[in-house]
This record gives sequence, structure tokens and C-alpha cells, in this order.
Amino acid sequence: MKIRIGHGYDAHKLAEGRRLVLCGVEIPHTLGLLGHSDADAAVHALMDALLGSLALGDIGMYFPPSDAAYKDADSVELLRLVYGIVKSNGYELGNADITIIAQAPKLAPYIEQMRTRLSDALNTESDNISVKATTEEKMGFTGSGEGIACHAVVTVTEII
Ligand code: MG
Repeated sequence: MKIRIGHGYDAHKLAEGRRLVLCGVEIPHTLGLLGHSDADAAVHALMDALLGSLALGDIGMYFPPSDAAYKDADSVELLRLVYGIVKSNGYELGNADITIIAQAPKLAPYIEQMRTRLSDALNTESDNISVKATTEEKMGFTGSGEGIACHAVVTVTEII
């Protein structure tokens, strides 16, 4: 069985008047992420990890910000499309591990909901989806609250 890995990274700026959506879950907060779509940096990192696992480029190639179709798009819907590309290339998800780096708000109460949302979208067991949150101890742009960053690592396995 062939196994491949992929990594993705994304960061978005926090701004007033925006919803905060991470891993497809809306989180009550005074600020939200700024971007063309819903700016779900965690799902963007996950999509880039999936594409990266098969050397299929990055989400900017498939969903260019210049395309009005993706304005305010639900990133989980884009994730379903990306996963379709992965499967049409003969691979399926093994597991995913996501790290969200945010000074605030506290994300622990939303982690299980995030895992459920992503495992539903990827048609897999929730124990194949790990979501973790950390701060950077008030250092850098996540620490100052300027933005939120996310990393994702996935394995994909050949569909036999
Ligand atoms: Mg992004």
C-alpha cells in the first residue's frame, strides 16, 4: 500500500465585522478572519495538505481569489471538492492532524465539533481527524492578536 504525506499552512488577519470560522465551526468572538472566502485558515491549510500529498499544487490554483464565485465561500464545501480531486487521483485520507495557533479566543470548547464537521466532510471516522489549538505565548502576529495561523499534516493511502 502506498502512503504519502502532505503539509499545509495558512494564516489570516483578524478584523472587526467578520465571522470567526475555524474547521467549519463558527466561534463567537469580537473579531473574525479577513479573506475572500469565509477565511477558514484551518480548512485552507488542510486543503493545501491534501493537495500537497499528491503534488497537485495549492488551493490558489483551484479557487483563485480573483474568482467572484468564491466570495464568502464555505471552505468546507471547497474541502469536499479538493477531497474529490484526491480520490479521483486514486488516494483516500489516512489521517489529518491540524494545529490552530491563536492567542484568543479559547478554542478547547469547539474542538470536538470541529473534528465532527471535518470527519463528516471527508467521510471518515473522527478519530482520523485531530484538531489541536495552541498559543504562541503572546509572541509574533498570533500572539499580538493580529491574526490566526494554522498548520495541517495529512497522510493519504492508495485506494486498492
Ligand atoms: Mg487562506
